Amino acid sequence: MNGVNIGVLAVQGDVAENVLATQMALEDLGIIGTVNEVKTPEQISDIDGLIIPGGESTVIGTLSMVNGALKKIKEKIANGMPVFGICAGMILLSKKAKDRVVGEMDQPLLDFLDVKIERNAFGRQQDSFESEISLEKIGISKFPGVFIRAPSIIESGKNVEVLSKFNEKIVAVKQGNIVGTSFHPELTGDLSLHKYFVNLVKTKH
Ligand code: GLN
Repeated sequence: MNGVNIGVLAVQGDVAENVLATQMALEDLGIIGTVNEVKTPEQISDIDGLIIPGGESTVIGTLSMVNGALKKIKEKIANGMPVFGICAGMILLSKKAKDRVVGEMDQPLLDFLDVKIERNAFGRQQDSFESEISLEKIGISKFPGVFIRAPSIIESGKNVEVLSKFNEKIVAVKQGNIVGTSFHPELTGDLSLHKYFVNLVKTKH
């Protein structure tokens, strides 16, 4: 059987860190597969799972719309491809996003994750911080949460499972094959969330 082919959307943001973390997760789990940076619709059509990294959601969204990647990603998710959206990536997966200061934003979104997101939800004084969080539902009792101008989820639909909260704010969710986190697991050296995602991809493969 062929190995799994996991893509990391390579437009802007934490691309290299996610490639590395995913490669290490595959290796640790003994799962045969490859991890590739993907950008074009052709590259995206070949993958079994996608990570949309953190960065700037307006930039990643706009550039991916222009080259047709967004349309291809939508098609693949609609066909059941697992996707892991990290920070800006989770914003892109959502149905609705507004900025804490600027308010409603007209930005391209993938429109799958049934949540309303507040961008930059943790305020300026706390732009970036680290705090231990827990994702018991998926068997991760302790995780180092690295929050960088992080969003939070302010409303979520019935089909959305809340995986973690921090200070009463929702910071990790799952809806079917879609996983989203406000924080950046690729910057921690803790591979448990990347392993969780790799297993999800493997199961659907
Ligand atoms: N604040 C960024 C945005 O709204 C997300 C930050 C991040 O991905 N670390 O797109």
